[in-house]
Amino acid sequence: MKTNTKYIFVTGGVISGVGKGIMAASIGSILKAKGLKVSMQKCDPYFNVDAGLLNPREHGECFVTQDGAETDLDLGHYERFLDEEMTGDSIWTSGKLYKKLIDAERNGEFGGHTVQLVPHVTNLVQQTFLDNAKHFKSDVHIVEIGGTIGDLEGSHFVEAIREFGSRVGRENCLYVHVCYVPWLSTSQEFKTKPAQNSLRDLREFGIIPDMVVARMDVDRVIKAPQVATKLATFCAVREDAVVLMPDAKSVYEVPLNAVKGGVLAPLERFIDHGDPDMSHWEKLVKNIESDPKEEVKIGLVAKYIDNTDTYLSVTEALKAAAWKVGVKLNTVWIDAEKATEEDFADVDGIVVPGGFGIRGIEGKIAAGKYCLEHDKPYLGLCLGLQTAVIAAARRAGVKNANSEEFDAPKDANVVYIMEGQKGKESTGGTMRLGNYPAKLVKGSLAEKLYGATDIVERHRHRYEVNQKFTKEIEKGGLKLSGFSPDGKLVEFVEGANTKFFIATQAHPEFRSRPYRPHPLFEGLIRAARKK
Ligand code: GLN
Repeated sequence: MKTNTKYIFVTGGVISGVGKGIMAASIGSILKAKGLKVSMQKCDPYFNVDAGLLNPREHGECFVTQDGAETDLDLGHYERFLDEEMTGDSIWTSGKLYKKLIDAERNGEFGGHTVQLVPHVTNLVQQTFLDNAKHFKSDVHIVEIGGTIGDLEGSHFVEAIREFGSRVGRENCLYVHVCYVPWLSTSQEFKTKPAQNSLRDLREFGIIPDMVVARMDVDRVIKAPQVATKLATFCAVREDAVVLMPDAKSVYEVPLNAVKGGVLAPLERFIDHGDPDMSHWEKLVKNIESDPKEEVKIGLVAKYIDNTDTYLSVTEALKAAAWKVGVKLNTVWIDAEKATEEDFADVDGIVVPGGFGIRGIEGKIAAGKYCLEHDKPYLGLCLGLQTAVIAAARRAGVKNANSEEFDAPKDANVVYIMEGQKGKESTGGTMRLGNYPAKLVKGSLAEKLYGATDIVERHRHRYEVNQKFTKEIEKGGLKLSGFSPDGKLVEFVEGANTKFFIATQAHPEFRSRPYRPHPLFEGLIRAARKK
């Protein structure tokens, strides 16, 4: 089979968490900076069909794509690094693959033949590469394989990428192996044996990588030339294809570090397309390293303060805004279950992020009330809009105002579930998910920040503002400032007598980019700075 698209497969070795996803995304950003059309996908060995029902404390943020898929936070990295929007098919878990395969089998699509790991599962995996490359019209399609080489549960993916090399031609595939090279302090040397072993495991699948990325301790990488020689000698890779990658201070330094570390030689042997224009990365890293004197303290009123990955896109959006505004960001985690007025008073601005479930809800409502009454900059995201609306209604005298999610009484359900949206929570997929358009009220803060009245944002929620209570919500200090095009759904609210109090039913954090922060986040940081 002939193909014009080139494919890059990124596997990991030795331990998980070495930054394989960031490395894959960085390679993508470099190729994009060469003017190529790049797409990415993740293959994840776990059996959950998607991330919708995964506990965010265990698994980190659930990243929502424009087409409404509930995915792994890795896709957020891909979007931030590539500045391209992913789709639900940019991730394939084993659960999603097997479900598709078993559904097809039950449909009688295999005509009585035995359905097997090879070739049926592996063919299906390969089909996802072809489909994505076609959908995105990619020059290069990058596939990250989750887990580490040697994991039993990821072997069908590794077998599939090996088979794919024969299918589309080995010259159209670049295999990249990212592994960890530990430093042994007693003997003061790097140890390559674990990396050698993981490369041997990869060879057992029939894959000799075209590039090996050795992740290592930042301070000592300078003493490491023998690492490349050793890996080259023992593992049948070219010495100039071993890229030494020290720890970076910020993930956004990785694309530039990768160029410095020698990623271009093996990449350009594979696809020759001129020099990459890395100027926007250089500018960003200069901003990140500028270390401004002026500090802005943002309080994140949250439930999972022990796993900050739960709010990854929110914290990345805040950072991006601070880099652009030129202030040092100090993010203060405020435990929603224990939050007090002193906590709110102590920060320059407050974010109430999205969330599910009653735990910590009163703290979030209190944060909205405090910001309304003390003119403190406030940004509410999804649940953060709902709690602001509850706070306003209670201020207007609707004493028991609440959301139906938290058993609001029928006469005080200021946030409620609309008929069409009712469904069983445990089954997943019963929410308003993905891109929805909104119309912003002329002259509103929302319109001013976006610089437009017609906008699109991503959603992930079940409940809506009950417009039966518009009068009370307004009396409590809020204006409704954005609606769905048919006017049925409230998409934005803002403070009527405040300088910066805004909340959206959407998740704008998903569309923020490191060098192009989302206007709501930039607005918050600017307002908090004035404070
Ligand atoms: N739990 C709320 C809802 O389902 C808010 C969801 C969210 O913040 N993403 O509507």
